[in-house]
Amino acid sequence: MNNKTEWYDKPYYSLGAWFKNKYHEKCGKISIDAGFTCPNRDGTLSDKGCIFCAGGSGSFAVSPENLRELLAPTLDKAYEKNPNLNKFMVYFQAYTNTYAPVDILESIYENALKEEKVIGISIATRPDCLGEDVISLLSRLKKKYEDKFIWVELGLQTIHEKTAAYIRRCYNLSVYDDAVKKLKEIGIPVIVHIILGLPGETPEMMYETVKYVSRNKPFGVKLQLLHVLKSTDLAGDFLKGRFEVLTLSQYIDILINSIELLDRDIVIHRVTGDGDRKLLIAPLWSVNKIEVLNTLHKEMKLRGAYQGRKV
Ligand code: SF4
Repeated sequence: MNNKTEWYDKPYYSLGAWFKNKYHEKCGKISIDAGFTCPNRDGTLSDKGCIFCAGGSGSFAVSPENLRELLAPTLDKAYEKNPNLNKFMVYFQAYTNTYAPVDILESIYENALKEEKVIGISIATRPDCLGEDVISLLSRLKKKYEDKFIWVELGLQTIHEKTAAYIRRCYNLSVYDDAVKKLKEIGIPVIVHIILGLPGETPEMMYETVKYVSRNKPFGVKLQLLHVLKSTDLAGDFLKGRFEVLTLSQYIDILINSIELLDRDIVIHRVTGDGDRKLLIAPLWSVNKIEVLNTLHKEMKLRGAYQGRKV
């Protein structure tokens, strides 16, 4: 059943609601590019990257000496831009943010965690980049900064191996399962990224992914619309007419069904895409995020839909 005191004005458990429940105030988000690369781009697994990924080759060029300089301008700019906010989450977003020697990772994460206004960090990575050394670092930091949170975000995108091969994800589902298990064992909350609208997938296949993820009850989920970005191989296939992107009404329908299939305690961190507008080829309607959100909320109201209704 929908619980308005926890979810506030939305028919699902948003990250904003989670922050309000926990800290009783609005919290800001600071996205950081800490200079990592990715094994799926640097030649370790592949030099092509995921088919939709528009990043460059990436090069890890951070030394412990210049860490503070790397983070400080972004943090200070965010503090200045949001003078009314006292709490911020730092999101290590670009590339694979556990793909570096563990001493470097420790310095990078601690540089953020030590900041007074930073209430926690979220680390986006691949499930195959969570070796024992990284897991024990995360476990140590969790104990050391017990008043802050440390989350890990895993780019699963789909449970279907055929799609995973097409998108060149370069790991299989069992690797994801292992990573979730290891993170659970050390009490690190996991946020799973799912892409809706991948080529060759029917809505039913997308719901299978959502149901699979929900069964494990991760802390959070990001539901993202497939974006076709310039200079990706995905754009090549799209421009050759090999697949079509979702229309707004198709996306809203799939999104609502997905939200209804998610356990009601899972925090939904995102319901749209978050790609670079300048690079976006399709679907162009997704540029207007406010309209997407308004359409979603209006349609959920009309249908009487809410998170967990079909669990
Ligand atoms: S794992 Fe992430 S950073 Fe690496 S190629 Fe895929 S989308 Fe890009």
